[in-house]
Amino acid sequence: MSTVESHPSPLREQDTEVASWLQREDKRQRTTLTLIASENHCSAAVREACQSRITDKYAEGYPSRRYYGGCEVADGIEDLARQRAMQLFGATHANVQPHSGSTANLAALLALAGPNGRIVGMSLKAGGHLTHGYAKNHSGMLFDARQYGVDKDGRIDLDEVRDLVREHRPQVVIAGGSSYSRNIDYAAFAAIAHEFGARLMADIAHPAGLVAAGLVPSPIGHADVVTMTTHKTLRGPRGGMILANDEAHKAINSSVFPGHQGGPLMHQIAGKAVAFGEALRPEFRDYQRRVLDNSRHLAQVLSQNGLSIVSGGTDNHIVLVDLRGTDVTGADVEERALAAGLSVNKNAVPEDPRPPLITSGLRLGTAAVTTRGFGTAEIDQVAQIVLGLVRGEDPERYRSVVQDLCEAHPLP
Ligand SMILES: *Cc1c(COP(=O)(O)O)cnc(C)c1O
Repeated sequence: MSTVESHPSPLREQDTEVASWLQREDKRQRTTLTLIASENHCSAAVREACQSRITDKYAEGYPSRRYYGGCEVADGIEDLARQRAMQLFGATHANVQPHSGSTANLAALLALAGPNGRIVGMSLKAGGHLTHGYAKNHSGMLFDARQYGVDKDGRIDLDEVRDLVREHRPQVVIAGGSSYSRNIDYAAFAAIAHEFGARLMADIAHPAGLVAAGLVPSPIGHADVVTMTTHKTLRGPRGGMILANDEAHKAINSSVFPGHQGGPLMHQIAGKAVAFGEALRPEFRDYQRRVLDNSRHLAQVLSQNGLSIVSGGTDNHIVLVDLRGTDVTGADVEERALAAGLSVNKNAVPEDPRPPLITSGLRLGTAAVTTRGFGTAEIDQVAQIVLGLVRGEDPERYRSVVQDLCEAHPLP
């Protein structure tokens, strides 16, 4: 927050502790290359909307059906966010109130399966999300969850999914993951779910921006319900959203409110509206195209130089590196990368022999550095740094290259 330094700041005057932490975070982001696949940098306009005074407003309910007075502005903003979301994804119903992706998922699962219902989702180990039925997550406690994995090539095996659905007879099948770099065949998933009387929930938390840009397959028209986060490739403020078909949308709305949440975070919804407006512009599609070019290039350079990529490549912004053929673990590289100024995250690979806090993989993502303006030339430099760190070069060697890249490509 350069404003904290250069302009009068009520925060700095009143609370130097919080102000200096935030200043430190601002500096950390400016001087670090974020390759964490779930992160991005939203625009200054989105941030401005999110810090607006509407954070003070209670607006329980939905536009024109609120449980509080004075909601005309909240109604206007929420309607705008919903309309833009529907236009962006070609959906007929949107709920923009979920506070996060996890909240969206739990609300959707409770709407479709009910407490103690049966669900089938991808296992955490194979690249699914906590909220897809992991034992220690409420989704694994509230539901009778069964999980599918990936085959030895790192791909979803639809025969395995079908066998599991036939056996378990869930009310909900979940398609989507957090470290899955391949396109998902939503039509095939829907056929399996519907054959056995289940509903399909697609969780596009990661590729939402690519889906909106039409660059990867969309689940709209196949899935009954689509959940997502707004802050990953979609590049909006932190939050969640649910799209639903005509049949499911009423149950979804009442599951979000009053089922799961109280007052919506209106300032975040204002930020979502701004981000959806940005995503409707042609420049957003160009941005997403560069995200894809960059991730394909990253996967290619790493594999040409001897690193193994799970599934052999990528269809989206994620590159999952399998370090099993090297002498280093995911945790080793994560730590070295931080010392060099790269923020990456360790990640389990399919059938990972190492524990989750160590892992044998590295999950890289190109959404945030592409927001900074990176093209394939800069990605080459990043790939060389990652290769050097895996080989065991001193991370300090790379600090100045990373700082030069950061300075040449400032944050939005
Ligand atoms: C990130 C993610 C979520 C959860 O998002 P939060 O906003 O962190 O709760 C849900 N599903 C998938 C697949 C994700 O990758």
